[in-house]
Amino acid sequence: MDTDLATEVRMLESHIDGMIARVQRNEDMLKRFHDLEMQLLSLNSLKELVENILDDAKSAFNLQSLSLVLADGSGDISTFLAEDGFCLQDAPSVVLTPSVGLFKAKLGLSQRVLLGDAATVLVPEFWPAEQKRPASVALIPLIRRGVHLGCLVFGSDDKSRFEANMSSYFLDRLGKVLSVCMENTLNYEQLRRSSLFDTLTGVNNRRFFEQRIEEEMLRSLRTGDDLSCLFIDIDFFKKVNDTYGHQVGDTALRHVAECLRSQLRSNDILARYGGEEFVAILPTAAEQKGTEVAERMRKLVERSILPITDNEQLELTVSIGVSTFVVEQAGSSSSVEKTDLIEVADKALYQAKHSGRNKVVSGGVVLSGLSAKTKSSASI
Ligand code: GH3
Ligand code: MG
Ligand code: MG
Repeated sequence: MDTDLATEVRMLESHIDGMIARVQRNEDMLKRFHDLEMQLLSLNSLKELVENILDDAKSAFNLQSLSLVLADGSGDISTFLAEDGFCLQDAPSVVLTPSVGLFKAKLGLSQRVLLGDAATVLVPEFWPAEQKRPASVALIPLIRRGVHLGCLVFGSDDKSRFEANMSSYFLDRLGKVLSVCMENTLNYEQLRRSSLFDTLTGVNNRRFFEQRIEEEMLRSLRTGDDLSCLFIDIDFFKKVNDTYGHQVGDTALRHVAECLRSQLRSNDILARYGGEEFVAILPTAAEQKGTEVAERMRKLVERSILPITDNEQLELTVSIGVSTFVVEQAGSSSSVEKTDLIEVADKALYQAKHSGRNKVVSGGVVLSGLSAKTKSSASI
């Protein structure tokens, strides 16, 4: 009797030990999920979000492999990632697909995680072709407000790691948190872009220019480098609209923006200032350099032809006004007024227009100092 009781106690003890170990494992897992979710929720850019998923999810859950498949019908995701310096070629685990319908067809609208044998559960489109296929997988759908954003695939070389009958509560929750993060980040990136870029031409917008010109002038004051500002206006643009319609007008705007951009270096800034007016800031460019670049832009627009129909082409020209900020003493703390520099370039543009158009005129230099002084004016 005593021995029976002792055996029963030992069995109960080992049962309790097993339960405690399971609870600890669950608590461990909950903590790992919680930490990852908190981390994901704190990120702002899409690049950070993708990088964190790739690095942290793999190590936190001891996965042999994973893939992040994202619906990118508009191409926005690849643009956002590229602009932030994320190289898709170096990240084969990220799969972008233009087809949103693919997710609907393969996953339906259920947000449930699919677990099991890779041979039966894993869809070829959800796994990078060049990457070794795992033995078992968890397919975590990313759906927000009924819209498929993509899916995250956890892969393991262990066939029994993900099995169909396992509970997927934590993975379901991770999928929901990640979907919210993905939606927020995409909205944020879109907003950030629309506040900095002109949607028609893809160059920066006026708001961005107003911010940057001040920063660049302050930088010139510190370094002593000159800075040139170019005001560019398309000649007789109203006629283009009147003759060919607004759609051709829009194409012409994009074409001119591209011509102007092609003459600038990566540190230069090009913005659409308004209607058919553009402005460029050339940090470190002295007056001569500024007018040279402006002249190259003018010539390129004049020479380039824009086909509008099979036998019709558009010939465009631009007029450009140049102003140059010259710092008399580097490191001085004199106040700086961007309006002076803009005004000089704008007046030079007016002169270019009134002396026949398709011209570059330099309005001269704006000297740094408490009140801006201007010198000389020349046209080429
Ligand atoms: P000038 O040589 O003196 O600069 O003559 P202009 O015709 O270029 O100048 P004006 O200011 O008279 O006309 C500018 C035109 O630009 C009028 C407007 O219809 C057109 N415009 C402004 N924004 C847009 C746009 O976003 N798309 C299109 N298609 N046209 C635009
Ligand atoms: Mg014009
Ligand atoms: Mg104008």
